[in-house]
Amino acid sequence: MIMSMDARSVSEKLRNSGLLRTQGLIGGKWIDSYDKSTIKVNNPATGEIVADVACMGTKETNDAIASSYEAFPSWSRLTAGERSKILRRWYDLLIAHKEELGQLITLEQGKPLKEAIGEVAYGASFIEYYAEEAKRVYGDIIPPNLSDRRLFVLKQPVGVVGAITPWNFPLAMITRKVGPALASGCTVVVKPSELTPLTALAAAELALQAGVPPGALNVVMGSAPEIGDALLTSPQVRKITFTGSTAVGKKLMAAAAPTVKKVSLELGGNAPSIIFDDADLDVAVKGTLAAKFRNSGQTCVCANRVLVQDGIYDKFAEAFSEAVQKLEVGDGFKEGTTQGPLINDAAVQKVESFVQDAVSKGAKIILGGKRHSLGMTFYEPTVIRDVMSNMIMSKEEIFGPVAPLIRFKTEEDAIRIANDTIAGLAAYIFTNSVQRSWRVSEALEYGLVGVAPFGGVKQSGLGREGSKYGMDEYLEYLTVSCATG
Ligand code: NAD
Repeated sequence: MIMSMDARSVSEKLRNSGLLRTQGLIGGKWIDSYDKSTIKVNNPATGEIVADVACMGTKETNDAIASSYEAFPSWSRLTAGERSKILRRWYDLLIAHKEELGQLITLEQGKPLKEAIGEVAYGASFIEYYAEEAKRVYGDIIPPNLSDRRLFVLKQPVGVVGAITPWNFPLAMITRKVGPALASGCTVVVKPSELTPLTALAAAELALQAGVPPGALNVVMGSAPEIGDALLTSPQVRKITFTGSTAVGKKLMAAAAPTVKKVSLELGGNAPSIIFDDADLDVAVKGTLAAKFRNSGQTCVCANRVLVQDGIYDKFAEAFSEAVQKLEVGDGFKEGTTQGPLINDAAVQKVESFVQDAVSKGAKIILGGKRHSLGMTFYEPTVIRDVMSNMIMSKEEIFGPVAPLIRFKTEEDAIRIANDTIAGLAAYIFTNSVQRSWRVSEALEYGLVGVAPFGGVKQSGLGREGSKYGMDEYLEYLTVSCATG
């Protein structure tokens, strides 16, 4: 059972445990930024400063790249079995420290502790999976045209990887990249979000303890444009893997072109949750509640639009609002909290402006619709009806606890509205008809209507993360032509 805790005593305990680190990791050493500058990491629930961490830039990033470049030959030449053992040890350590890592996530990101510990288990599972997958990187033998020739295709690690990650899943978005990269034999420079660097640093500390050698994994945090520019322009970095907003992803893709890097992008979504007349009301309410309000709605795959068919619209609106009303808003360390704060004040202001826009164009608030009485960055769980396609919240990620209900008449309408967006990450369907679920799944232009591998289509991304397909992102194909005599 999760007991209510006090954020201050938690951070004191973490400081003493050695898991609350404030320096960057370069070449196996913990270091301050070269000019000693720092950035503050805030607890979004209280506004208190949790830590002052090193604020790094171009010089530190160049050194991190150089150390990853130097570490690459020896790390990539380890046998797959040796790399696998180190990753397995890292997984064991992540799980052994899942409470502390969960506390760090709640401290710097705000999500309820139970969800945060869930993220640790989810994040660690990528390391466990890729520890095994490391052993399964096989090449091919190609039938040659000449009888005295043999042709092989070998899979080889791409080299140094730059991994840039967001704040909404401070651990899982890192392990989903670093797991397959290290398993493939690549070395990595991680740039976590400046809002949530502490979990990344703790995970890196455990990687060192697991035996990840100096330089194989570096962590630099601070100035995003400077670090990004150093990673993108360096010819030694052969691959950029990014999770974050579509706007930044586009910039990085363009910046990767002059050095022709491999690029994978996990970007923003605008997921529809489509509820048909024949859906089981209870299942649709529970499913949409989880899909919308997890992590206070700050999830790329969260249901951004709730499309409800005419015949069930009013009943759904009522039952859904009843369920949303039961969400417990509060500090993530408080027992019973099911919705934490938003990441910062700018996020709350964005949500407020989206709600104002919808109301000014005729939408009606059923529940919530304003900053929570707890103040800070807490926002009321909100349900809005009569949302139309001309409102901003239909077009852009809300990234907050606001569920807009959009009415539709026919299956064709639902598909048209669902696909009417530049995003294409995730979608949810609630119907009791197997035939309809197949039909609609195939008609939706989304990368995910259900399960892994994870990744978006259209402007939601490029490449896949998770599953065996996630390894391909970090491998090159080398063709070897060999004479037999
Ligand atoms: P963001 O794009 O603002 O930042 C992501 C990362 O990029 C951060 O580390 C940030 O410091 C860095 N960054 C920003 N500008 C940069 C620059 N010029 N050069 C280099 N790096 C730069 O996104 P965010 O607000 O941290 O995260 C939320 C977004 O992430 C949402 O759009 C969400 O949908 C998306 N997301 C997508 C997935 C997915 O799997 N598709 C998963 C989680 C989050």
